[in-house]
Amino acid sequence: MLRIIMRQSFHLFLLLILFQAAIAQETLPDLSHHELEAENKARQLLMRRSRAVEAQINYGYDVTFYRLQLRIDPARREIEGALVMEAKSETAGLTAVPLDFYANMQVLSVGENAVSFARSGNVLSLNLAQAYQRGEKFRVSVSYRGNPQDGGFGAFTFNTHNGAPIIASLSEPYYARLWWPCKDTPVDKADSVQIDLTVPDNLTAVSNGTLESVRSLSGWKTFSWKTRYPITTYLVSVAVSNYAEFGETFTFLDGTRMPLVHYVYPERLGDAQFQLADTPDMLKFFNRAFGDYPFKKEKYGHAQFAWGGGMEHQTITSLGGFSDGLVSHELAHQWFGDLITMKSWQDIWLNEGFASYSEALFVEDRFDKAAYRNYMGRMDHSYTGSVFVRDTTSVGSIFNTTVYHKGAWVLHTLRHVIGDATFFQLLRSYVADPRYRFGSASTDDFKNLAEQISGRELDWFFEQWVYREGRPELLYGWKQEGAQLILRVQQTQSGGSYRLPFDLAAIAQNDTSRFTFEHTGGFQEFRFAVSKPLTKVVIDPDYWVLKTLQQTDFNRLGVDETPAPETFALQPISPNPFVFGKNNLTIRFALSRSETVRLAVFNALGQEVAVLLANQLPSGDYAQIWDGRFARGDLSPAGLYFVRLQTETAQATRKFVILR
Ligand SMILES: [Zn+2]
Repeated sequence: MLRIIMRQSFHLFLLLILFQAAIAQETLPDLSHHELEAENKARQLLMRRSRAVEAQINYGYDVTFYRLQLRIDPARREIEGALVMEAKSETAGLTAVPLDFYANMQVLSVGENAVSFARSGNVLSLNLAQAYQRGEKFRVSVSYRGNPQDGGFGAFTFNTHNGAPIIASLSEPYYARLWWPCKDTPVDKADSVQIDLTVPDNLTAVSNGTLESVRSLSGWKTFSWKTRYPITTYLVSVAVSNYAEFGETFTFLDGTRMPLVHYVYPERLGDAQFQLADTPDMLKFFNRAFGDYPFKKEKYGHAQFAWGGGMEHQTITSLGGFSDGLVSHELAHQWFGDLITMKSWQDIWLNEGFASYSEALFVEDRFDKAAYRNYMGRMDHSYTGSVFVRDTTSVGSIFNTTVYHKGAWVLHTLRHVIGDATFFQLLRSYVADPRYRFGSASTDDFKNLAEQISGRELDWFFEQWVYREGRPELLYGWKQEGAQLILRVQQTQSGGSYRLPFDLAAIAQNDTSRFTFEHTGGFQEFRFAVSKPLTKVVIDPDYWVLKTLQQTDFNRLGVDETPAPETFALQPISPNPFVFGKNNLTIRFALSRSETVRLAVFNALGQEVAVLLANQLPSGDYAQIWDGRFARGDLSPAGLYFVRLQTETAQATRKFVILR
């Protein structure tokens, strides 16, 4: 039997907002979790920050097909390219086709339905021979050459390993345009892409989809790859090296057989074979959890590259290492990122939060719930900014640990709110939804589906966990009165209340009772029927909610100012708030008769921090001055405090705030 008594303390709450807003908080990102190799993106960008702006071009067409032919010369660090693009006009009278393409790359010619071109900044505009009406198809070609400049995480790089070349692309977020002309936006997926890579014949060139042919010609080899699944520009991949190749055939439950193939440096073949042996287990688990791997008619593969982390190129992940965390993360991206791509870089948590959470899911499947919780714990650290990215102008602001780790926690907490069965049904429904599958989705799309599947309104959930910064901060205390557990909880964070459905464990000798309660803000008291003497009470025993939680004296929680009795008066504290170092605090009180008084200061946890008076005083008006220092001379931290005036028979309390 559960009974809830709620009492909001708005006055206290406003004071808390006042002082917390005044404290400039500086939190540094904790990068220790990146030792997991759960992608190195955030760490690397600290070393190299580059700025770019998301395209604001009105393209006016819908891409259906790209054919990209590249001749890659490692000796000259140069590429020669030929692009064919097929598209449909989306406007009346389309006469010019804008493509994203960096200005440093030299355009040699344009053709098919394009007759001339113009360049403005990093936009290449093709002039068409005629106007194309809405829905009409056209086809353009561009031939070009150049040495792609550095950008983002290194969009197209020439490196070496053990004396051999390694040439690889990593275009995310908007740097495909550094090395090939394209409509470089995540929302327009080509229906299919063909990539022909011509490289010196001692090298192997790897890309998306299936290998259609390999042709040799006078010291060069052309590898023709084709994917027949929709794909966006940043997922188009090039990886070239003297690869050693190994793999196996993976069989799906429906009997589909698919190549699982790894291209690694020859000197790393041994450890790659050892470490990548878990890949089929991951694939099996994710098939079961999310629905079958989306590109099963083609392949899944890994291509080693020189970058420290991983990149989820569609059907061919690029890897810098082979740890389970990294491999499972990139594999999960094939569903979350590749099959369903975020509509805007602001929604990048739909890729990274999901992939990071999938690492934990794989750990849960392989080991147990405790290992899963431990894994989530490693992603619980101080975060900067919100999960929803407000500034998408640099890789630094997009790929931060908040997006990865707090993004993973959004899903973890959602799982608790809507329940295990509904949560996994939601993931499978999301993956299967024709509105998003082979297309893109926004945070709102996912939220709406979560509401539909769970039958619950979830605006509040996404608002507080995805769009809001920070985390709930809670003080709690409990006591037992006979068969009743009384729990007091107070939210003390700034910026409004959180809605927090909690589990509660009430622990007695040899017996634990489980309850649930929902804290909705401010100070609230809850009562639970218990049968045995309790030794411990644990809020959120299974660690579903990000929070700071501190136990305090039961009686101090929810304390309001108590009026003074008739024998004396305690005036409001002045100035309030009190700015430390600027002035002194004045505590005025009056005694109507001679009393033994004790005047003391308490912090918000109910701890006595300073005793200002402990004397027998005659009747009269008093003003006690305090400089804000604790008994031993320590400076008092900013925060909420109480002054208590106590006599032998009565007491009065006043609140005040110290700012620094
Ligand atoms: Zn990722």
